[in-house]
Amino acid sequence: MLIGYTHDVHILLLFAMHAEAQPTIDRLGLVATKGFSGFPCKVYTGQDGIGNKVILTVSGVDPDFGVDMVGTQSAAAICALGIAECKPDVVINAGTAGSFTACDAHIGDVYIVEDYLYHDRRISLSGFDKYGVGGYHVALGSHLTTMFPTAVATTGSSLDITRVERLAMSELAKETPLVKDMESAAIAEVCASMGVPLIALKSVTDMIDGDEITGEEFVRNLQYSSETLQIALARLLDELSIDLVRSISFSRNLPLIEKMVRLNKEHEASV
Ligand code: SAH
Repeated sequence: MLIGYTHDVHILLLFAMHAEAQPTIDRLGLVATKGFSGFPCKVYTGQDGIGNKVILTVSGVDPDFGVDMVGTQSAAAICALGIAECKPDVVINAGTAGSFTACDAHIGDVYIVEDYLYHDRRISLSGFDKYGVGGYHVALGSHLTTMFPTAVATTGSSLDITRVERLAMSELAKETPLVKDMESAAIAEVCASMGVPLIALKSVTDMIDGDEITGEEFVRNLQYSSETLQIALARLLDELSIDLVRSISFSRNLPLIEKMVRLNKEHEASV
């Protein structure tokens, strides 16, 4: 007997880099499609193990420099185009990130994101200062937050970090698990604006307060962290249901926003 009907979940799965996405493309046997409205991203479709529809995007390759188009601009554009064209029930952003020994992170650890900040949008005008740091909060529900450790994600346009950013982030990382990336807050901003639930999984490739040069550590760990990301993503996809994604909601985390504005001001004044 059929006990209640729930429809399959329609998932828009966003990756910035091909190396991050490839294990999932292979595992799910996704096939390349013609893409979205002429935007140079790569789009793949198929199904996950429990029959949910998956549309996976990779940000694409810069035509002049031959490198992955990481960063907020492509991520936001692809997210908005993907939502408009595919009408997903949920957006999932899966990627790599830096983290901190101060919050006891390790290479390959995978976090689920509850809060999204921008760390390099300092706009010191009333109201704009808070807008600048974003501070999107996603209520994921206890099922997801007990499956993975939770973190705050902080997004900027650089792989490296300024002295002020390092001081502010290191302080925050003493209080909460923190991951630093180049896309997720922009994706949160688009999802919040368009009313689509968001789940982000971030796998740690480099320790920002460690001894190694970030770029070298990132390249060395990219494959390993992409594998742990893929394993976590498979667990997440297996648990997704339409009821679960519809219960996810956005708000603004005002205490966190105010803390970031204060930390930025204090540390700018101190250098
Ligand atoms: N040198 C790399 C550049 C990738 S940029 C290359 O081989 O092409 C880094 C990508 O990984 C971004 O998509 C970003 O979201 C994520 N990332 C990993 N570690 C990061 C860190 N410490 N700071 C910012 N982004 C990071």
